[in-house]
Amino acid sequence: MGICVDETLGRQVGARREQTVRIPKRAVDRRERVVGTKERDHVSLIIDPLLRPDLARLASAVGTSPLTRFAPSPTGYLHLGHVVNAIYVWGLARALGGRVLLRIEDHDRIRCRPDYERALFEDLAWLGFEPDTGLDPPLRQSETPQVYEDALDRLRESTLVYACDCSRKDIGGERYDGRCRRRRLEPGSGRGIRVQFENGDEAFDDALLGRQMQTPAEQCGDLLARDRDGHYTYQFAVTVDDFRQDVTLVIRGADLVSSTGRQIMLARMLGRRNAPVFMHHPLIHDGLGEKLSKSAGDAGVRELRSAGLTPPKVIGIAAARVGLLNPGESIRAVDVARLFQT
Ligand SMILES: [Zn+2]
Repeated sequence: MGICVDETLGRQVGARREQTVRIPKRAVDRRERVVGTKERDHVSLIIDPLLRPDLARLASAVGTSPLTRFAPSPTGYLHLGHVVNAIYVWGLARALGGRVLLRIEDHDRIRCRPDYERALFEDLAWLGFEPDTGLDPPLRQSETPQVYEDALDRLRESTLVYACDCSRKDIGGERYDGRCRRRRLEPGSGRGIRVQFENGDEAFDDALLGRQMQTPAEQCGDLLARDRDGHYTYQFAVTVDDFRQDVTLVIRGADLVSSTGRQIMLARMLGRRNAPVFMHHPLIHDGLGEKLSKSAGDAGVRELRSAGLTPPKVIGIAAARVGLLNPGESIRAVDVARLFQT
């Protein structure tokens, strides 16, 4: 059994003890190269196949002018983990001649707050990461419930979509066994909506991690599309949005690898012919191998700002934390494509 990323909270890993996602060991062959033309721009790149995708191969996989997205949830302030993601998103988009869409993933209306959203726009602008689309007006998931409703209707034509009143406690953090499939519950308050997954494997080529194989129906069972509070889930909303917004390159942290097979399968069930290309990048970890989040002490962009650091310094710190730059180096947001043009 693979890890099951919690469908409601999306970014929390539910079960930690087992892990079927194969992430190759760090390459031993690390070479360094200095790039930049002016002295102050010099940065030395560590060439590591697990840090940077093969740009030529990625370019041929995504085609001309790919669209990728930066899709934060306004449930807190931006921290270095977000900056790492922004470096990859903007860096690769620019290196590939593509565009960046900004999407506010505020599907969870209990945890998302307008002041976090304002701070997010402000910090992103301060850092210098400019989206090509989705900023004005902002693209918010909470404003398009009909889109998700329509997607559920489309699924109903070809698969079982059913109400489920099981609580997280009922399911116990394990795979959902489909116990409500035949109960024919009426949808309503206190009831979620699930989509039956077909059996079978879902294979995909991750641009950094290589070939991956997942079995969505066995990983988590039937997909929770809307939770018992009436919120569309992370898994469902992003898949619908990546499809309708024509996102062709998904760049995100390695903690979401296990969601990918499910999202590819769901996209196909929704009628998407060509799945986006996925790339899962390294995360900032603490010494114990756990992903760092703001609550675990990862530095917030606001704190670093008020400590007097410049945007290139903050971006440099984030890049160094995953090994894209050497500690102490700085880089401007407009230059991050250089980190990938090896
Ligand atoms: Zn149920």
